[in-house]
Amino acid sequence: MPMAFKNEPITDFSKPANVRKQKEALSRIRPKLGKTYPLIIGGKKIRTTDTIVSLNPANTAETVARFAKADTHLAERALEAALKAFERWKHVPAKERASFLFTAARIMRRRRFEINAWMIKEVGKNYTEADADTAEAIDFLEFYGREMLRLSGPQPLTPVAGERNQLTYIPLGVGLVIPPWNFPFAIMAGMTTASLVAGNTVLLKPSSDSPMMAYLLMEILEEAGLPAGVVNFIPGPGSSVGDYLVGHPKIRFIAFTGSMEVGLHINELAAKRAAGQIWIKRVIAEMGGKDAIIVDDDCDLEAAVKGTIVSAFGYQGQKCSACSRVIVHAAVYRRFLDRLLEEAGKLVVGSPEENAPMGPVINERSKQTIMSYIDIAVREGGNIVHGGGPADGPGWFVQPTIITDVKPRDTIAQEEIFGPVLAVIKAKNFDEALAIANDTIYGLTGSVYSKNREHLERARRDFHVGNLYFNRKCTGALVGGHPFGGFNMSGTDSKAGGRDYLLLFTQAKLVSEKL
Ligand code: NAD
Repeated sequence: MPMAFKNEPITDFSKPANVRKQKEALSRIRPKLGKTYPLIIGGKKIRTTDTIVSLNPANTAETVARFAKADTHLAERALEAALKAFERWKHVPAKERASFLFTAARIMRRRRFEINAWMIKEVGKNYTEADADTAEAIDFLEFYGREMLRLSGPQPLTPVAGERNQLTYIPLGVGLVIPPWNFPFAIMAGMTTASLVAGNTVLLKPSSDSPMMAYLLMEILEEAGLPAGVVNFIPGPGSSVGDYLVGHPKIRFIAFTGSMEVGLHINELAAKRAAGQIWIKRVIAEMGGKDAIIVDDDCDLEAAVKGTIVSAFGYQGQKCSACSRVIVHAAVYRRFLDRLLEEAGKLVVGSPEENAPMGPVINERSKQTIMSYIDIAVREGGNIVHGGGPADGPGWFVQPTIITDVKPRDTIAQEEIFGPVLAVIKAKNFDEALAIANDTIYGLTGSVYSKNREHLERARRDFHVGNLYFNRKCTGALVGGHPFGGFNMSGTDSKAGGRDYLLLFTQAKLVSEKL
């Protein structure tokens, strides 16, 4: 049995030696930039004439890598390879499957600064954000490996006289894994390895904004000795390859993390029975958020300011858990806002390679969307009190933006923006703050800063989010300690990094033998 799970420590970049190691890793990958990588289907590397280009969002003149691009024919080939591999993989004992995850986690530890370096280049994370993402991937592997060992052990059943009964968790089949770009290593590796450790085989369709991070996982799994065909790597457009596979009769489940719009589309398409399909597809969808922090009148205001800044602007607000609404009790509104603006003034936007606190947003479209939300906010009566425009630089930079006078039903208080834009909403009292916090279609994360025990207990009961935090930021869930996933339009109520998660990738079989 492996040792009890514990979270992988985050690298301390206040130590110059660690900064140096990260810079060296960035230098080491520089000569490799711009290379073209193949699809991987049944262990075979396949090149295509058409490619997906992954650019550095902080320096759009720099190509991080190019990737072969799957079409529906190649997707079909990948599916056949995964179906074939499933026939063997499903019989591999759970212990052996788990050991691949433990080995891969060891390889990730060894390659940690290199993985961070690619992430810094490909999605514009600063050192700590990138390192936390890599650490979370390691956590997922270590956690799901142990979870599979637990689930493969004897399961408790009520004894029935004269019978020997046994319940086992068996795999589902071929799964389609569709990750987002914003936790390009952790979420991608988490969904992929949860699928495979449960005995399924996988088609991994990475986000076109972060295919390199998925290619690194493929390299790591290969080095760990995972048999060919268990995970197949097929970058390609969501609209063609994605729809083709989601609607395919041989796909058994889809593990998706991304926007509500795409998640709902996948859910709808997967619900239709295709000709020849003999199961109901399972959809695990983790979607967007419109997360709020409530600042109560008696709270530690300094902690609330710092927690709001980190939650709203960490990784440029591009986290599903990011604080996009801060709902402030009228009694402390002015004091809170003044301090918030002071702290926001310290945020520097710059190159992730130089470890600037804030870097670029992911792509041009995202930058335009963020700008248009800022325009809408102003049209609806919002007041830009900080930022509000693009920031200088050779990439897709946006200033951290704070908008006051936002009404609870304004567009920027309701729709996910996915960028560094914080709406400040004033509430008369705690009851009103809680009602505003709950008044969206989402339910992912939330925080309450308060010293009032009665208010905290009310929030425990009534603040309807999957991950609720008291007197701390609303980002930074830890595998094992904070199983993660939201309610309502934030997804299918799953909890990544929790004890229920692997059950979503299995089905339970009961065998009852008459003695
Ligand atoms: P997105 O929905 O644009 O894309 C997600 C993935 O879906 C990508 O791999 C994309 O290529 C793919 N895709 C697009 N169209 C498809 C189709 N028709 N069929 C199949 N696949 C298709 O989201 P994104 O921009 O990559 O990520 C940001 C979103 O993810 C935000 O909404 C964020 O809140 C959400 N998110 C949620 C969680 C969570 O745990 N709830 C975690 C991270 C991100």
